[in-house]
Amino acid sequence: NMARLMSEQPLALEEDVFIRPQRLCEFIGQAKVIGKLSMFIKAAKSRDEPLDHTLFCGPPGLGKTTLAGVVAREMGGELKTTTGPAISRTGDLAAILSSLKAKDVLFIDEIHRLSPQVEEVLYSAMEDFFLNIIIGKGPMARSIKLTLPKFTLIGATTKPTLLSAPLRGRFGIIEQLEYYSTDELAEILVRGASVLEVNLDEEAAMEIAKRSRGTPRIALRLLKRVRDIAEAKKERKVTVAIAQKALDLLGIDDDGIDDQERKLLDVIVNLFDGGPVGLSTLAAAMSEEERTVEEIYEPYLLRNGLIERTRGGRMATRKAYERLGIPYLRNGSM
Ligand code: ADP
Repeated sequence: NMARLMSEQPLALEEDVFIRPQRLCEFIGQAKVIGKLSMFIKAAKSRDEPLDHTLFCGPPGLGKTTLAGVVAREMGGELKTTTGPAISRTGDLAAILSSLKAKDVLFIDEIHRLSPQVEEVLYSAMEDFFLNIIIGKGPMARSIKLTLPKFTLIGATTKPTLLSAPLRGRFGIIEQLEYYSTDELAEILVRGASVLEVNLDEEAAMEIAKRSRGTPRIALRLLKRVRDIAEAKKERKVTVAIAQKALDLLGIDDDGIDDQERKLLDVIVNLFDGGPVGLSTLAAAMSEEERTVEEIYEPYLLRNGLIERTRGGRMATRKAYERLGIPYLRNGSM
């Protein structure tokens, strides 16, 4: 049961454990966040206190979990990870909290998805390091108070605006992770390639990095697929030409747009005349769930200004037409 709620390592393949940076000084990118964290960690250690509870905000795959592991290691504790939706009852949280030791880092991913009841219990744990829970029901109910070791809670969220104000207020450190530059991603890829024993040249690393949407998780995933393709073709070295061929085979464009996103653009432009088209209509036309369209296909297109959300629905922009090589004949009297 505890295994369902938590794991020592976040869902990772064997080799990911080695690709993940272990220490702050090894962490590539996020320089501002790393700079501040180093100071805070140093100060906490010199006072022999745990690091203040920390919230990492930002899109998936930017290193929030990885960073929590780095903090745990720097503080000399262990990382325990769980997610907001996995802690459905207060008893689940109590079980997790009472298993912690001093200096441990409890990482809660998707912390904006905790239930209000569970949040309530978390408040006193964060603030005063005690656990106040009610056991039993009706006349048999009694409340118990447990003192907890001094741990650090690290929360991660892709949607900081959904966090309740009282929970937000209990984090001493709040940091926003940013998308990585192409250079940083290339550096991560070169490091990853040495762990994966891929012979990747720098130009090829830049090529993969360019198509990785500023996201290390995507960069490393593409690297693995490029490796597979290079191996299948019996290539010993991944050059830029091979990387390009492999990425084309994977359907990843120069700017990182993939097949599903291309399909979405195509549907808006060709089936709905550029929009506006409502989300439910769009999802039906794609034979996908609305949530998938909204959370997976749309964000990168929005970020890149290829579609926009209007009151009437989604619309393809001029840039989208240019990209598809279709004349943009809107706002005109056609
Ligand atoms: P998040 O928790 O923000 O979704 P993760 O920490 O799980 O992101 O990172 C996703 C993947 O990207 C992991 O495989 C991790 O090893 C890798 N990764 C993330 N940030 C970095 C980084 N700065 N350097 C190297 N690898 C990274």
